[in-house]
Formats: sequence, C-alpha cells, structure tokens
Amino acid sequence: MAQITHWINGKPWEQAPTRTGKVYDPATGVVQSEVALATPEVVNAAVAAAGEAFPAWRDSPITRRQNVMFAYRELVVENRHEIAKLITAEHGKTTPDALGEVQRGLEVIEFACNIAHMVKGEFSEQVSTGVDTFTMRQPLGVVAGITPFNFPAMVPMWMYPLAIAAGNTFILKPSEKDPSPSMFCAELLKEAGLPPGVFNVVHGDKVAVDRILEHPDIQAVSFVGSTPIAQYIYENGTKAGKRVQALGGAKNHMVVLPDADMDLAADAAVSAGYGSAGERCMAISVVVTVGDAADRLIPEVMARIAKLRTGPGSDPDSEMGPLVTPEHRDKVVGLIDKGVEEGADLLIDGRGYSPDGFESGFYVAPTLFDKVSPKMEIYKHEIFGPVLSVVRVDHYQDAIDMINENPYGNGTALFTNDGGAARKFQSEIQIGMVGINVPIPVPLAFYSFGGWKSSIFGANPIYGPEGVRFYTKQKVVITRWPDPIYRGVDLGFPQHGK
Ligand code: NAD
Repeated sequence: MAQITHWINGKPWEQAPTRTGKVYDPATGVVQSEVALATPEVVNAAVAAAGEAFPAWRDSPITRRQNVMFAYRELVVENRHEIAKLITAEHGKTTPDALGEVQRGLEVIEFACNIAHMVKGEFSEQVSTGVDTFTMRQPLGVVAGITPFNFPAMVPMWMYPLAIAAGNTFILKPSEKDPSPSMFCAELLKEAGLPPGVFNVVHGDKVAVDRILEHPDIQAVSFVGSTPIAQYIYENGTKAGKRVQALGGAKNHMVVLPDADMDLAADAAVSAGYGSAGERCMAISVVVTVGDAADRLIPEVMARIAKLRTGPGSDPDSEMGPLVTPEHRDKVVGLIDKGVEEGADLLIDGRGYSPDGFESGFYVAPTLFDKVSPKMEIYKHEIFGPVLSVVRVDHYQDAIDMINENPYGNGTALFTNDGGAARKFQSEIQIGMVGINVPIPVPLAFYSFGGWKSSIFGANPIYGPEGVRFYTKQKVVITRWPDPIYRGVDLGFPQHGK
C-alpha cells in the first residue's frame, strides 16, 4: 500500500512513522494509502528547518521571492490536471470541480506574485524639523497553516503563497483525509526554486496540531475547518501568544423572494446545494422561500435534481461525487433520518444510493426536504452533505431575522429583481459574504474571504489584503537628520507636528 510521509527541509521525511491514518478512495470505498501521523518530534523537526531557513529567506530580495511565485504559478498551471486528479482520488469530487478548485487557488498565487506592491509602506517627509516618518511591513517568522479536507489544494493556497512571498517560512498541516495534493505542491515549490525549509508539510491529527499551537517558535497560525476546532485553535493559539486567524463552519441560507427569476433561483439552489456533494463551507444548505415562492421554486428544483448524475468523481458523466469517508457518509445519513423523524417533508431521498459497480463507495444522492423548521436538527447542524432544506416564511423580514439569529455567518444569497429589497439585504444581513442573485459569493483573490459570528475567530479574514496584513507586522520608523544649526535639550513629550 502507498505510504505518504511528511515534507521537511525540501525533501520527504525518511523516518518510519510510529502512527498512520487511512486514506480512502471515496468512489470505491477502498483504503488506497496510509499517511504518517506526526509526533511532536516531527513537528519540532519541521519548525527547526523552517526556523533555520527564515533569516536567509526574509533577507532575499523581494523580487526573488516574487520570481519564485511566478515560477510556481507556471508549474501549477502546467500540472493542474495532475493536482485535480489527486484531489478527486482522495476527496471524491468530480474532475471539473477539482480543476475549479485549482483555479481558485491559482488566483491567490497570482496575487502573491504582486507582494512587492502589497508590502509597500508609507512615507511622510518633514513631520517636524529634520524629522521624517515611514512604515514598513516585515514578515513574522515561522508561521503555520492547518487546513480542512474539503479543498485540499485551494485552502492551503489561501495561506502559504502570501505567507512565503511576504518572507515567512511555513509549516502546513493538511487534512489527514486527503494529504497528497500538498505533497505534490511541495515538489512543485521546490522545482520553482524555493529553498529547503521555507515550505514544510507535516501530516497528522490533534497531536500535530497541539504541538503547532504550543511551539514557541511558531509566530502565527491560520486555520480553516469546523467551528469547534476553530474556536479551540483560536483560544489555545492566542493563549500561547500567537497571532491566529481561524475560519469555522457554516450554515448558508439562500432567500428567494416571490418576484425572483425562478429558473435562475432553481439553477442556483441546485448548483450551490449539491456542488461538491455539499462539502463546501459556502454551499447553500437552506433555501428560505418567502410568500408563495416555494410553490413555484420547488418543482423547478426537483426537475433539476432528477437529471443530476451521482457517481465516481473521475467519471466524466458524474456531476456529483461521493462523500469523503464512511464516517461522514453515516453522519449525513443520520441527519436525514433525524429530519424524517422530526416531521420534515422528504421530497427526494438520497439515502441508500450507489452507482452500479461502486456499491462500497460513500455515496449519498441529492436529498431535498420541504417544510423544515429552525427547531429541527437538520436546520441547526452544518450537514456538509448533499441535503437541501426548504424553510417557508410569510414575510421578507422573517427571512432576514432567521439568518441574523443563526449562529453562523459565512455566506448568504438573495434572489430577487427588486433593487430596494436587495439593498436592505446587503445592509442589514449579519453575514460576512453576501450574494445578490449570486449563490456562492466567494471573493476573488484581490479581496479577502471570511465570515462573521461563529464562522470566524480572530480579526483577520483570509487571503487578499487582509492576508498580507496577517502575515506581516508593521514597523514605524522616525528619523531625524537635523541641520547642524538646530541643537538643544527638550524634556517635553515629542510633538512631531511642531
Ligand atoms: P475539521 O475541523 O474536522 O478539521 C480541520 C483541521 O483540523 C484538519 O487539519 C484536522 O486534522 C484538524 N483537527 C480535527 N480535529 C481536531 C482536534 N480535535 N484537535 C485539533 N485539530 C483537529 O474540518 P474538516 O471536516 O476537515 O472540514 C470541514 C469543515 O471545514 C466544515 O465545517 C466547513 O464548513 C469548514 N470549512 C470552512 C471554511 C471557511 O472558509 N470558513 C472553508 C472550508 C471548510
């Protein structure tokens, strides 16, 4: 069976692992490889390598760091099909979806190619006689990223290209469920000219994460994953004195007003609800219909679901793949069972489905509930599977209140043709990323990504300008090169404006 090991100091880690985890092929249910699970000593070795590499990397010309990113960008473009293949093999998503993931990661790499512009400081001449002031942004040192299973290439790319381009050295702890894309990208970074130790990968679970959180030589931690772990990372990382950004889970609502274009809304609900089998933090999980919108929307949604093909991600005919592990499939099926028990109206049941010849894969077909209430478990939980719930409300304000009362705040969308209603939504909704007739409002790399409420812990959203701020610290320098004729002691507090 294939063995996946860590990447430390520019090469695969040679020592045999003391613990390993299973990596499935979700399409067939077969365990395809074993991944090493790092001990604290392995994390220490990665931090030592990153620490040694930092001074030279920090001091390398910014144009050199940019050139490495340009070269890496070219290699990711050239190898995008190979990266997508690794994603599909371990995550299960379809090939076009995996290619889309690589593309969105690539956009952050392209943004990082422009790091010289992003870390430029400000300068003020003559703030007092002979006194000038300027700011600069400097890298933090060794920083770490801990990432979820659902975007095994893209979410790490939200972090390390900017961190590295800004002059930091990086430790990535990817999800142990789909570790291979990170290893492949480590090789591409080496080929792009990145010196050993600047980018390291440690695989593992809580043991590795806890060592990252307490290690005194790690300055900052970026995390993306579920809310309870995000909170844990934030609390423990900040307690250890680190800068932490921790993005958590979601429960995204899409509101459909009666005046909406129902074809557009149905296309959006099906695409955003079932894309990647619902394993996206920006997936639509709840469709809130206002007034009589449900009666016109639901038949359109059902007609589209009937045509969706669920199957192995590598099959060009599949539009939706399996879930990532048997445990996750069982959790999703358990929540569907609960929805039925609690009296929601199960219009389409995806339980028990498997494509011919793939009976042991982790499949759940698209599932649709109507008449869901906010008291039900299927409403309260982030299902993270191909399950859409319709909640019917009488008034637009009820929809807004429901979303604002929800503990999560990642993404939301409104479908309407009414500009005034849209303007009210974008202004009043307590959610970090808002789409108007756009179901998955993920900003491009020159903006930053992040939810509100329990979808984020810490002040900084990820990538874009906020990402640059997170991975750098500002220094302000005040210089005095006086004209020799100005002399004299002054014990008053400096007033540079004099
Ligand atoms: P997860 O929280 O289980 O795991 C994320 C990372 O934390 C992994 O690297 C994992 O090894 C580690 N981890 C897991 N349990 C841990 C523990 N007890 N202690 C320390 N570390 C632990 O998340 P997942 O299942 O891999 O990913 C799905 C979740 O990620 C969903 O909740 C989804 O909404 C969220 N997500 C959020 C965003 C966002 O931008 N807000 C993006 C993608 C995914």
